[in-house]
Amino acid sequence: MKFDYVIKGGKVVSGRETFVGDIGIGEGKIRAVGKDLKGPTSERTYDARDCYVMPGIIDSHTHMNLPVSGTVSSDNFFTGGRAGVHGGVTTIIDFTTPEPSQSLPEAIKSRKEEAMDCPIDFSFHGTLYGFDSKKPEIQEAIKLGVTSFKFFTAYGESNRRTPDGELFNAFREIGELGGISMIHCENDEIIRHRRKELSSSGKKTIEYHPESRPDFSESEAVGKVIHLGKKASGRLHLAHLTTEESVELLREGKRSGIDLSGETCPQYLLMTETAYEEENGHRYAATPPLRQDADRNALWSGLESGVINSIATDHCPFQNKQKDEFKNDFLNIPQGLPGIETMSSLIFSEGVRRDRLSIERMVELISTNPAKRFGLHPDKGSLTVGTDADVVVFDPNKSKTIEAKNLHMNTDFNPYTGKTTYGWPRFVFSRGTPILEDDQFVGRRGSGKWISRKLKD
Ligand SMILES: [Zn+2]
Repeated sequence: MKFDYVIKGGKVVSGRETFVGDIGIGEGKIRAVGKDLKGPTSERTYDARDCYVMPGIIDSHTHMNLPVSGTVSSDNFFTGGRAGVHGGVTTIIDFTTPEPSQSLPEAIKSRKEEAMDCPIDFSFHGTLYGFDSKKPEIQEAIKLGVTSFKFFTAYGESNRRTPDGELFNAFREIGELGGISMIHCENDEIIRHRRKELSSSGKKTIEYHPESRPDFSESEAVGKVIHLGKKASGRLHLAHLTTEESVELLREGKRSGIDLSGETCPQYLLMTETAYEEENGHRYAATPPLRQDADRNALWSGLESGVINSIATDHCPFQNKQKDEFKNDFLNIPQGLPGIETMSSLIFSEGVRRDRLSIERMVELISTNPAKRFGLHPDKGSLTVGTDADVVVFDPNKSKTIEAKNLHMNTDFNPYTGKTTYGWPRFVFSRGTPILEDDQFVGRRGSGKWISRKLKD
């Protein structure tokens, strides 16, 4: 059998087992997985000894070039995609949001143009503010390969909230079509009230951010959304869960038989609201806010037990100067954190090395499960023969001390500055082509492909 490349002698993490073996790659696909593969005409062998070999990582929640609070997130599809490659990411699912004058299919087309120079494969969730008037466009979007739709229960002040009546219709009708409703769950009324209260008493520095969006404002919305989803027979995915109660509600919701999944992000697993008390605490501004230790622990157990299905980054970086302008005004600061490049190493360091997660579970959380949930599997998220050769050779002993300038995300801020993490990719392949070799990005601008997603695995 002819291979273009053979990855030799790595610990192949495939499904629920890990075994020492080789992977043969040819014409962009995985051609063989086994022991002692020989490709007589193979061009190059990649030594994977002592490394894990895993399917390409999928970041199913990113915001490249996102307009926020009068500015734009600082990574575009090229810089953000390239930074992702340094962290083993080979596919992203970003978002497309129709302008008021635009239909969702039009928005998908123009966002695809914007993503043209992405160096890794990409897809979008369709973001909708409201549902009823957008209903006719859903089927068209599905034909274009967008099979998940994002709604907010909060952000009423900026007209992004979908009212409950429309939310119910969305869950029912998107569910009937086999699509997924992805929901940002926070209670709009509580947040609006608290923001007003804090603002009028002059409490505008970042340490009041958690108070403005308390844990129960999230769990109230999670509970409501799950309840509506159940009544509507919807298929739901809950974005960026942060609290202990949310994990509990997710667990109960799943037990009640609803088609439900949930995600969390590294920032909620690694940091707490004490970050906001730091000198430049405003730079950690993100929504939902960072929480407390009990929440972090609950999120880790939710990942370990399988209650939480996936980890994604909500990658939405800003330069310090973009945030510093609002140092004393959390009400208007651009909210978001960089994350795409550091996810795999942080989760490996804090999860696998600390025995909170097995390596197989980590791969499920950052690759296989998002691939399955969002209609990318088995081409993405697996190492099955015949599927896309998106492969990461992950060196568990490679370490790096995190600092913005050692990384490739387009920001001078990193929330984990000074932290040494273990486990970084040594080689990364995208559809059979090497795109990272020993810390060097060797991919190409624009070589990422638009991925038309399926409706149901
Ligand atoms: Zn987001």
